[in-house]
Amino acid sequence: MIFYSTRSKSHTADSTEAVLKGIAPDGGLYTPVDFESMRLDVADVLNKSAIEISAAVIGRILNDFTPAEMRAIIEAAYAGKFETEDLTPVEKVGDDFVLELFRGPTSAFKDVALSVLPRLIIASREKLGVKDEIVILTATSGDTGKAALEGFHDVEGTRIVVFYPDGGVSDVQKAQMVTQAGGNVGVCAVRGNFDDAQTGVKNIFADDEANHWAAASGARLSSANSINIGRLAPQVAYYYKAYCDLVLRGEITLGDPVNFIVPTGNFGDILAGEFARRMGLPVAKLVCASNANNVLTDFINTGVYDRRREFYKTASPSMDILVSSNLERYLFLASGGDFDLVADLMDQLKREGVYIAPEGLMAAMRDHFSAGCADDAKALDAIRRVWKSHGYLMDTHTAVGWAVMEEFKAREDNGWANVLLSTASPYKFSRDVLSAISDAEPESGFGAMRLLSEVSRVPVPEGLASLEGKAPRFTDCVGKADMLEYVKKAVSR
Ligand SMILES: *Cc1c(COP(=O)(O)O)cnc(C)c1O
Repeated sequence: MIFYSTRSKSHTADSTEAVLKGIAPDGGLYTPVDFESMRLDVADVLNKSAIEISAAVIGRILNDFTPAEMRAIIEAAYAGKFETEDLTPVEKVGDDFVLELFRGPTSAFKDVALSVLPRLIIASREKLGVKDEIVILTATSGDTGKAALEGFHDVEGTRIVVFYPDGGVSDVQKAQMVTQAGGNVGVCAVRGNFDDAQTGVKNIFADDEANHWAAASGARLSSANSINIGRLAPQVAYYYKAYCDLVLRGEITLGDPVNFIVPTGNFGDILAGEFARRMGLPVAKLVCASNANNVLTDFINTGVYDRRREFYKTASPSMDILVSSNLERYLFLASGGDFDLVADLMDQLKREGVYIAPEGLMAAMRDHFSAGCADDAKALDAIRRVWKSHGYLMDTHTAVGWAVMEEFKAREDNGWANVLLSTASPYKFSRDVLSAISDAEPESGFGAMRLLSEVSRVPVPEGLASLEGKAPRFTDCVGKADMLEYVKKAVSR
């Protein structure tokens, strides 16, 4: 399989190179175009286990690994690490379905991919005969950081440095990161928001000085953000798994299309749904749900991508994003692989903060995508109503999706089953979730966690309960311009 940079013809990679590099030298994102050769029929995986489905799906996309190699990678990545054996269970809530992606070690959907990525990177390094230490740089809006630390800590041949926006993550998310154990990890706050942290990391990848420094130190920079194709591929699997579950339970008939509603930030999760659709999964609509940072809602509805707008800190911080990296991959696919168009639009976005996509591309997008947004008030109201009427507790990100799903059904009900992707455990955002279902006013995120557990009678996940009282290991905070210095320091430690 050839992976193309989205920005020029001259940078191609096979799957091991794409995984190891993370991002193409021209700043583009490695993307496959030949989905016909990646085709996977549901019937071929219908009765398989979650781990088997995952190995089959990822193996189709990253095809430089043999089926036996991939199977071993996936087995080692997941076995015994998730709360449920089927990894990503589907719950029926009212007439709709909730796909729970948060049953992994850090209680966010990022675990699904970040449990696998370190093993893909190490296996790629071996296959390519690379001896350099792989230095993973990650910007996080809250959940990626911890899931990446959990996946990479003490993995031989790797180091990981995580940057998070100072004051831009929940207290539980912060505690998860700054208490991380491991000899090869670094965690640092950045003065700014997530976009600042993400831009800072992207700039380091594109910086000659940084790359020379890395080469001279026997290191190689790579990314655990969803710009890495090795992050995206594992996410395609749960679309297949959910579909199989619905067929096996008799909720749908094999071949029926299904709507997937996806709480979206960087457009990685929903893009995995588009990959699944292009690989042959019967998908009706992919519904992109945003919070008050609704740049994608506007884009899908108008064709104008305009990041020059107020940035809101919301109760769903992992979706507080104005520059959605993976949309670049979608533009590339939907334009039929038009490198020049994508390079031009990305350049406009960087220089002017805005671009307008061609009408033909937007028409194609609207055939398969729909979009909506919900602010904090709407999301909290959804948590309260769903708890009251169905006894099902959602986190704040999932709640944005629920509210958008309701609007979607009212606007364009196509009659097909709706699957809402649930991206985090309610306990990760206890304070806001609790405020939606009770009048309690706990002092801390941990107090909220305990109260929430008392009210809901759902136990707190072990990884979160054990955080309280742990001393922080990392207290650094740097400006955007000093991120590379921090990386150098962390690597030489
Ligand atoms: C990362 C994240 C999202 C957004 O996913 P993208 O792939 O960035 O669109 C939504 N909800 C939660 C809880 C997340 O951690």
